[in-house]
Order: sequence, then C-alpha cells, then structure tokens
Amino acid sequence: MPAFTYQKCSDLSQAMKWLAEDKDTFLLAGGTDLLVGIRGGKFKARQVADIKDIEELKILKEDQKGITIGAGVTLNEIAQFEPVQKNVPILAEGCNSIGTYSVRNRATLVGNICNASPAADTAAPLYCLGAIVKIAGPGGERQVGIEDFFTGPGQSALKAGELVTAILIPKPYPQGKGVYKKASRTRSVDLATVGVAVQRWGQEVRIALGAVAPTPVRASSVEKAINEENVTDAAQAASLVEKDISPISDLRGSREYRYHISKVLVRRGLEETEEVCS
Ligand SMILES: Cc1cc2nc3c(=O)[nH]c(=O)nc-3n(C[C@H](O)[C@H](O)[C@H](O)COP(=O)(O)OP(=O)(O)OC[C@H]3O[C@@H](n4cnc5c(N)ncnc54)[C@H](O)[C@@H]3O)c2cc1C
Repeated sequence: MPAFTYQKCSDLSQAMKWLAEDKDTFLLAGGTDLLVGIRGGKFKARQVADIKDIEELKILKEDQKGITIGAGVTLNEIAQFEPVQKNVPILAEGCNSIGTYSVRNRATLVGNICNASPAADTAAPLYCLGAIVKIAGPGGERQVGIEDFFTGPGQSALKAGELVTAILIPKPYPQGKGVYKKASRTRSVDLATVGVAVQRWGQEVRIALGAVAPTPVRASSVEKAINEENVTDAAQAASLVEKDISPISDLRGSREYRYHISKVLVRRGLEETEEVCS
C-alpha cells in the first residue's frame, strides 16, 4: 500500500480545510472503494481525511422535505431505516445488492455515488427517486440533482475543495412499487454487469439503468412509450431501451450481452411492478 498521511476529522470545517490545503487529499468514508483504489494505483493520495466520525454527517432522518441521509451513514443503516423500508424500498434493495453484509456495515451511500462508477448499485434507484445531492465547499452550500451529479466514468459534479454532506430523497414519495434488478457474473459478491431500477410513480413509471453507459441513465424511450403513448405490452416497451443505452464490452460482459440483458431486466421490472398499479 503506498504511504499517505492520515487525518481524522472531527467536524466538517476540518475536512474542508484539508481538502483546501492539498489537492491530493482524498476523503475516506467507509474506505471500501478508496483503499482498494489507493492500493491498486487508481487514486494517488498524499493525504486521506477520515470523515466517518463527523457527527453532522451521521444524520439519518425523515421530515416534511423527505428522507435525509448524511455522508457518514452506512448502507446497512439505510436499508434498516423504517421510513426507507416503508416509503422507498427500492433504495433499500439497491443498498442491499452491494457487496456483503460486512462491506455494507462500512460502506456509505454517499461514497457509492462519489466514486461515480456507472455501475454504482444505488445510482439507478436514486435516479428513479429524483434524489438531491447536498454539497458544501469553499463557495458555500449548493444542491445538485442526482442526474447532474454523475458526469462521466469516475467523474462527478464536485468541484475542487467540495464534498457531499447528504442526499435528500424528496417528498412526495412514489406511489406504487419499485424494484431493483441486478445481473452480475456470480450470485455472490460482484459489481453489476447491468443494474435496472423500475419505479411506478402514480400512474407513471420511471426507469434507470447502471453499467450500460458512461453514467447511469434513465430509460427515457421506454418511459415515454408507457407514460405518453399508452404502450402496455412490457416486452414491446422494454425493447426500446436499446435507444437509451450505449454499453461497452469489458470483463463483466460483452456489449451485445448488455443490450440483451437490459431488455430482459426492464421487461421483468415492468411486469413485477405493473399489477399493483393497473
Ligand atoms: C468486496 C467489495 C464489494 C463491493 N461490491 C459492490 C457492489 O456490488 N456494488 C457497488 O456499487 N459497489 C460495490 N463495492 C464498492 C463500494 O463498497 C461502494 O461503492 C461503497 O458504497 C463506497 O462507499 P464508502 O463509504 O466505502 O466510500 P469510500 O471508499 O470511503 O469513498 C469512495 C470515493 O468517494 C469519495 N468520498 C467519500 N465520501 C465523500 C464525500 N462525502 N464527499 C466527496 N467525496 C467523498 C472518496 O474520496 C472516494 O474517492 C464493493 C467494494 C468491495 C470492497
């Protein structure tokens, strides 16, 4: 493991100070992406600022705005939070699809999106829920919609010196049912070859996919067919997903396989959610 300086942050201002002082400072939340990345040479970290014990980042609450999930909250805490289970279970499904129980005991939702992998398993559910990313930095606080947060593979809307403080799942929550479906090489621990979230929203549907484009994407063509053109046949609607994605071939699957399995998972997601809403 390459050497780096370790800084333990007790509050947000300390974390921002380390970020401002050295551009080769990396934030550590659960460390399940960061430490693997440092060891593998993906991240050249001179300094690591540990934010996981910052009290204000441990916020996990529901109020009139929705559900707020701080940057220090783990995936297991989110999946077990009653308002998530009751109102937005698709997010619990996305969290539970990551790694193992012990990985999820450390890994955070915010770390999952800040890593900005197109295959991040929480991204597609967050797209369907219209999540809002809360950011703090030298210029103050700002908010970005989740679809604008991902800008490319490993790239996000974060500017120099900024960090994510929390994610808001805004009210009104979707009515109906949501499912997250993941195809991977094994039934055990693996990143998604394709991940598909399907969420009924009143009489409408929202669909998002991961690992099939440089960023997670909405299946706009499928959504339009169902929401605006009254297409009711799930297979017919799902076949349109090929217009929305641009997969590559890599060690997890070929481009052709990803096209195929995307259609299959979108169809299954539509079928599994339609009866509660029809
Ligand atoms: C065995 C194993 C299995 C895994 N399986 C999956 C899987 O199935 N699906 C999946 O999607 N992922 C998987 N992962 C990846 C990883 O666990 C997740 O992406 C996790 O959610 C990352 O969260 P973390 O808190 O550990 O992030 P960290 O590793 O601490 O951070 C990740 C990145 O985000 C940055 N960062 C962290 N917090 C902030 C913040 N508040 N503001 C700005 N930047 C920040 C860090 O500097 C780093 O670049 C797996 C990892 C392991 C080790």
